[in-house]
Amino acid sequence: MEIRVSSGTASYLSLQNSQILEEPTTAYLLVPGGRCRGACTYCPQGKGDSRWLSRVSWPLFEIEDLLEKVKKSDIERICLQSPDIEDYENKIIEITKILEETEKPISVSSPPLSDETLEEIKGPVDHIGVGIDAVTNDLRKKTKPNYPPLVFWDYLSRAINIFGRKNVTAHMIVGMGEDLEQLGVTVRKIFDAGADVSLFSLLLKDYQVEMKYYRKAQLLTYLLHEQNLAESMELIEEKPDECIEYIENGDIFRTRGCPGCNRPFYTTKPGDEHRNFPRELTSEEIDQIKEELGIK
Ligand code: SF4
Repeated sequence: MEIRVSSGTASYLSLQNSQILEEPTTAYLLVPGGRCRGACTYCPQGKGDSRWLSRVSWPLFEIEDLLEKVKKSDIERICLQSPDIEDYENKIIEITKILEETEKPISVSSPPLSDETLEEIKGPVDHIGVGIDAVTNDLRKKTKPNYPPLVFWDYLSRAINIFGRKNVTAHMIVGMGEDLEQLGVTVRKIFDAGADVSLFSLLLKDYQVEMKYYRKAQLLTYLLHEQNLAESMELIEEKPDECIEYIENGDIFRTRGCPGCNRPFYTTKPGDEHRNFPRELTSEEIDQIKEELGIK
């Protein structure tokens, strides 16, 4: 049986020869298949190019060739993603049963799964990723046209019911036309529902969300753990100097998500400044972020 493996993961596991610029701490895998039925405006899978997801290529390998390598590696987690292809639920069940052999915890990120499937994969799978993606229902209608806008919210709450609070991560794409306050309202709603938030920076062929806005989105998401939306917005927009302690810690700007997930270069081109840092930040990187946020 074949499976798609992200290029960075394949290099790290020596399935192919190419330079590793940042080491992945999770093995990123993709269920192979044809054109995704989702047709989401920002995703190459809906345009029929199943080798690409975000800006990453996913070559095919025999799953058997992967198992021992993952088992012997210091990879902390496996993330299995699936496009919306025919029979994706059964494919996920089949693949997670095979991956169980690695004894690594597994996250699954896919179009909505039924309660029965969630119950069946629970155990080896301990975390679920849900693509809320666009912040508002109107933006979701425009950018995920083949889904009713609330279907992912329904999936989020069913996944929390079955996997428990803190074991579900909502994926949010920053830069789809929302403003910072709308993003904050949705992040608050996700936290209140009992899930965590993983931020992605929108990157298209001819568009990338402004860095300053993305840094503010990261800071806001962090602040909302501690304070309400109005207080957080006031700090970011009017008193950013008071956030200096949080910023200097650097964790705010690292990849958020399931334990052990660092997604190097998922929405950043090699050579560019990381949007989500896959490791601890250097002091030069923190100084650069302060500058981006207008802090001296
Ligand atoms: S947060 Fe990372 S490991 Fe978890 S589902 Fe998303 S991409 Fe996968």
